[in-house]
Amino acid sequence: MKKVVKFGGSSLASAEQFKKVGDIIRADKSRRYVVPSAPGKRSSSDTKVTDMLYSCYNLAIREKKFTSLLDEIHARYNEIIDGLNLELSLDHEFDMIRENFGKKIGRDYAASRGEYLNGIIMANYLGFCFIDAAEVIRFHEDGSLDDEKTNELLSLRLEGEEFAVIPGFYGAKEDGTIVTFSRGGSDITGSLVARAAMADLYENWTDVSGFLIADPRIVTNPKSIETITYRELRELSYMGATVLHEDAIFPVRKVGIPINIRNTNAPQDKGTLIVESTCRQPKYTITGIAGTDGFAAVTIEKAMMNSEIGFCRKVLEEFDKNGISIEHMPSGIDTMTIFVHKDEFEEKEQQVLAGIHKAVNPDHIELESDLALIAIVGRGMRSTRGTAGRIFSALAHAHINVKMIDQGSSELNIIVGVRHDDFKNAIRALYQIFVETQI
Ligand code: ASP
Repeated sequence: MKKVVKFGGSSLASAEQFKKVGDIIRADKSRRYVVPSAPGKRSSSDTKVTDMLYSCYNLAIREKKFTSLLDEIHARYNEIIDGLNLELSLDHEFDMIRENFGKKIGRDYAASRGEYLNGIIMANYLGFCFIDAAEVIRFHEDGSLDDEKTNELLSLRLEGEEFAVIPGFYGAKEDGTIVTFSRGGSDITGSLVARAAMADLYENWTDVSGFLIADPRIVTNPKSIETITYRELRELSYMGATVLHEDAIFPVRKVGIPINIRNTNAPQDKGTLIVESTCRQPKYTITGIAGTDGFAAVTIEKAMMNSEIGFCRKVLEEFDKNGISIEHMPSGIDTMTIFVHKDEFEEKEQQVLAGIHKAVNPDHIELESDLALIAIVGRGMRSTRGTAGRIFSALAHAHINVKMIDQGSSELNIIVGVRHDDFKNAIRALYQIFVETQI
């Protein structure tokens, strides 16, 4: 058994958190490759080291004094080193960083130092080998990941090391220029390491015990999801349920390595297992509910539109021309509705409407804003009858008007559109009927 373990910023924010991480790693010899993030917030009012590094570098490029902020960052690392009683000094590293900031070496370099330094501490603390991600995670000239080369370099390097720490979030181009992934990108590094090591499991340790069935800010104490498939996860994350960086899924999914989301502060919890497919029936018909606010709907009505060849294409082209992405498109016999993000649409609204009038000469166009979309997702829906009926009845009981319903052909999800004011109540009503009453 071989596991890759990635720890998020909150798991490594202080010496105390580092100790929990150390205990977790030492408790299981198969946890061989460790991918740390930079130290995160120690309390809600704290600042992540990555954000401090960005600010510090911004000062440097504007020729302002940046050394005192850099000293503050240094002090944060020293606090961890002292708290762990390590014989380690980062003085030399900070001298280099100061020099490189002075040379304005690059914003990605600046941000990457958070993970780099945390990796050095972690390797020292665990007695593992330190592998600089710049040597094994390769980016193309245009800044995109060179997936193939990365896999080649990483697997070769890991073959020679039984236990290693590889900092997350960054890599380098062929010429050594440091490049980072987008924010939260250590998840991607973890996934790349898991694939290269041909690990049996990729454990992603954070500060929650996996995915919850619904947003805890809306539903009190929602249950957690034990097993979720990659496809279900994709549907839920599209609607805003985020724990994992989206791009972290692809490398491990391709080779069938499951991801286990775990909680550093509650290691006894099993967390959520993300898998390609499973025979395990979910406990409830639904796996999760997620929703997002801020949509607008454009309904176009025209008698006999179905027999007008090219009607839909011409309408969609108007959105395309104005650079507006379409989120959903439920249709009726003589109507089609297009859901778009309100913020994106508002600015271009009049151009789009004029364009549609000109292109298809509709009988009527209706606009509605302040809508929310809620996705009810679950592989269990395929083998259960009456799911849509239950959704309608739950919402009707809660006096919520359903503006739209859209069932994906995969029968994996049903999306309902409701007014913004009904958004939270709708999620609560759905949670209640599918999870609490469990009929
Ligand atoms: N430290 C980086 C960030 O704050 C990357 C990560 O934590 O995954 O976004």
